[in-house]
Amino acid sequence: MTRPTVIHKEPVRRGLLPNWTDYAQERSRFSWDQARLALQGLPGGGLNMGFEAVDRHAAGVLRYHAALRFVSKDAPAIELTYAELARQTNRFANVLQSLGVGKDDRLFLLAGRIPELYVGLLGALKNGTVVTPLFSAFGPEPIATRIQLGAGLVLLTTDTLYRRKVRQLRDQLPSLRHVLLVAEEGGVTHEPDTLDLATLMAAASDSFTTVETTEDDPALLHFTSGTTGTPKGALHVHGAVVAHEASARYALDLHPQDRYWCTADPGWVTGTSYGIIAPLLQGVTTLVDREEFDAERWYSLLVQEHVSVWYTAPTAIRMLMKAGPELAQRYRFPCLRFIASVGEPLNPEAVWWGQEVLGLPIHDNWWQTETGGIMIANTPAFDIKPGSMGRPLPGIDACIVEHLEAEGELPRVRVIEAPNVEGELALQRGWPSMFRGYLNNEARYAKCFAGELYLSGDLARVDEDGYFWFVGRADDVIKSAGHLIGPFEVESVLMEHPAVAEAGVIGKPDPLLGEVVKAFVSLKSGLEPSDALRLDIMAHARRRLGAAVAPKEIAFLAVLPRTRSGKIMRRLLKARELGLPEGDTSTLEAGA
Ligand code: ATP
Ligand code: MG
Repeated sequence: MTRPTVIHKEPVRRGLLPNWTDYAQERSRFSWDQARLALQGLPGGGLNMGFEAVDRHAAGVLRYHAALRFVSKDAPAIELTYAELARQTNRFANVLQSLGVGKDDRLFLLAGRIPELYVGLLGALKNGTVVTPLFSAFGPEPIATRIQLGAGLVLLTTDTLYRRKVRQLRDQLPSLRHVLLVAEEGGVTHEPDTLDLATLMAAASDSFTTVETTEDDPALLHFTSGTTGTPKGALHVHGAVVAHEASARYALDLHPQDRYWCTADPGWVTGTSYGIIAPLLQGVTTLVDREEFDAERWYSLLVQEHVSVWYTAPTAIRMLMKAGPELAQRYRFPCLRFIASVGEPLNPEAVWWGQEVLGLPIHDNWWQTETGGIMIANTPAFDIKPGSMGRPLPGIDACIVEHLEAEGELPRVRVIEAPNVEGELALQRGWPSMFRGYLNNEARYAKCFAGELYLSGDLARVDEDGYFWFVGRADDVIKSAGHLIGPFEVESVLMEHPAVAEAGVIGKPDPLLGEVVKAFVSLKSGLEPSDALRLDIMAHARRRLGAAVAPKEIAFLAVLPRTRSGKIMRRLLKARELGLPEGDTSTLEAGA
């Protein structure tokens, strides 16, 4: 089917005007100092992420508005208003103070998406304590390594997770002074060397004065997804809140009346920046689902919870596509008004699926753990070109660079001015949510910069209208017979084939051509691999890409190896193909 190359922006959607409509004008009048004025600041002139997210609203008109709404399969929903969230986070901050935990100390969180996780994170921020949320499905080793690396002083977890994953390694965690346990089945925990969180919370006062933090004080330590190697710890500051506020307005189009659902777990930067902080800053009601992905449940939640803005990931969209259109057609989504996606390239096929099945296009956006917030996005202010990541948000200057010979240790680059030339995606430094260091690795941090430019490690190109197109990660690009082939282009074409649900493409060493393209694909529900199907997919790819770029080999896999944050791990496909060691697999999804 031939489709138009753009999806036009809509002036009004479901009766709401978008937050902005004129890209050029907004960019030209934007300044970070001006954006800071949307926030209140602390009385002494400081800035604190937790205060801005919670207390600012708890003292204003939104105090009785639902801030967080927790849902799960077996228990009734729990709703916390902004006022209640302020009281609970105050209690938690007081608990930390009573334990002698203060500014710059480190708190690790290890729990499913339960209220205590959110209260702990926001309360710690108000106390100036640096927070690291961990993904609760991690095994004992990755948990211990991260707590060791980050010198965690306090751990908040549940009694079940503690017994299963932490207790046996406790003696290897010398920095860990306090373990706070949530009793999952209710009651009080009596685990030795731990404290019962509910008991401490009940005894703590619900008033607290936010600790005076500045915009340069550390707030969050996030580990990257580990897609390309061992996860890195990226340190973020309280000042990032300015970027969270602005980007949620521009890229997610949040309005206070929205019911918003971010499907990412807070163990990943998206689940914190846009699953907790940014929506609270905008005063919306955020849905938190405790359960894992299930196509039927997700469609039902979108409908029953009246979700109006939905922020999800390509992997989830592909799984919904895999489940088939019949399931989706059983539902209507009258409240849904804006959908965005992040984490991996969003194939044009997926954008069109949104348009055709959900009635709305999906707005892809690009950012990284290191950037702390959305940098490049499709927004309501301009047309979508399916397959493009969109354009840099106001306050963000992005460009494409090529590497020159390095002088000493540090990279040197030149900006490529011409459109449509592939190179490394770089950003002008100076946006407030930029990471301020890699944990224990200053040398690696220094290498991320060439003068005033931050180098992302991703390859992209920019077209004549200023839209950015993802090509691939620098590590994943395939060099075949003198061509540079981006895996994304090949994967997107494979995804167009009606039988293909997911595709991951690698370069396989070849004595003649350097590398040849090999594709791994999983099929849509109900389809079986066969030689005939392989040939048909191969023929489709040749037709669309030409023989030089199309895969020479296609292998069928039931599931592709993915990180727990949902990214295809091409390095693992490659290592397995070549019989090489798999490297760090701490973030690998179970069963892949
Ligand atoms: P690691 O750095 O440990 O290998 P990671 O880079 O996957 O892991 P994240 O910071 O979670 O860790 O992911 C950021 C990366 O995800 C980006 O550098 C990019 O490669 C990819 N990404 C994110 N959003 C998009 C997008 N919209 N299109 C294409 N790629 C994206
Ligand atoms: Mg990365």
